[in-house]
Amino acid sequence: MIKFLDLYKINQRYRNEIDTTIKRVLDSGWYLSGKENENFCKNFADYCGVKYCIGVANGLDALNIIIKAYGFSTGDEIIVPANTYIASILAISQNGCAPILVEPNIDTYTIDPDLIEEKITSKTKAIMVVHLYGQVVVMDKIWHLSKEYNLKIIEDSAQAHGAMYNGKRTGNLGDASGFSFYPSKDLGALGDGGAITTNDKDLYEKVKAIANYGSYVKYHNIYKGMNSRLDEIQAAVLNVKLKFLDEDNKTRRKIAKFYIENIKSPNIVTPKVNNEDSHVWHVFVIRTKRRNELRKYLEDNGVQTVIHYPIPPHKQVAYKEWNNLSFPVTEKIHNEVLSLPISPVMTKEEVRKVVELVNIWE
Ligand SMILES: *Cc1c(COP(=O)(O)O)cnc(C)c1O
Repeated sequence: MIKFLDLYKINQRYRNEIDTTIKRVLDSGWYLSGKENENFCKNFADYCGVKYCIGVANGLDALNIIIKAYGFSTGDEIIVPANTYIASILAISQNGCAPILVEPNIDTYTIDPDLIEEKITSKTKAIMVVHLYGQVVVMDKIWHLSKEYNLKIIEDSAQAHGAMYNGKRTGNLGDASGFSFYPSKDLGALGDGGAITTNDKDLYEKVKAIANYGSYVKYHNIYKGMNSRLDEIQAAVLNVKLKFLDEDNKTRRKIAKFYIENIKSPNIVTPKVNNEDSHVWHVFVIRTKRRNELRKYLEDNGVQTVIHYPIPPHKQVAYKEWNNLSFPVTEKIHNEVLSLPISPVMTKEEVRKVVELVNIWE
């Protein structure tokens, strides 16, 4: 069986270091908001090339807290891709803001920068870009719009740790960025975790307080904050794994390149890449009109696949008010995508086997 993602095998590579690290935290008697968190935030800020990083409980909280810290709420609009994981959109509506959905580009699957300007109104406060599947959004036009209309750029970097655009990493491409360290992300913890990165000192201070019950000084609450923390054990484990992130991304790139060069089936569309650095291949997503058939065929032949994602946000029960809206590109993507196995622990034989199976599928 070729697993879609073997998390055990991924973490087993640094088992000794992780064991030592967890023991160190346990022995310290200090489990929240301590040295491990501080250390990881410093290292992750350096990695992203930003001044500030704050550890939080998960990726959804990271986005939610950024929006809170900017003070965006009822009556404000935030532009967001229609083709994204639901968390990007939840973070907006949880603050009472209106998510304004924009279609993706069919080649990159990320927000189409040419369709944003027509959606900007006097209520628009921010553009949330989502580096979906691990590929950085094409930013130039979005930077330009943000200046022209005075809009904040919020990055959802949950799927793209380490991806680069014009020599800068995700986390450093907008005003503030949210990361997730959910176990299956390219940088994954042993449970939930998240972070916010920014170069804006005021935002940093505010975000830190909001994540900590809205308080700078214990028992003095300035904001109606949340409790959202990256615990010491997760921070320590992430610190171990961060050292290997670039190497892992390199392996993912090699596998993706092999897939793209060798998958020859006329029924399958392989991903388009802007340039090598811009993609870290959180998932390797192909498209085919016979998606469910291909999925069953691969499963019958011992290859696990996943659909990212089967139902677009505007068709979800949770967003009934949008169910009649039409986003044809988004819908086409949701109907046709299939993610093939990709991970830093996949062997050459496994990758070859997947290609072989896909190429004889008819
Ligand atoms: C995983 C993910 C999130 C949310 O992260 P959690 O840690 O699960 O809360 C947000 N946006 C995208 C695009 C994601 O893939």
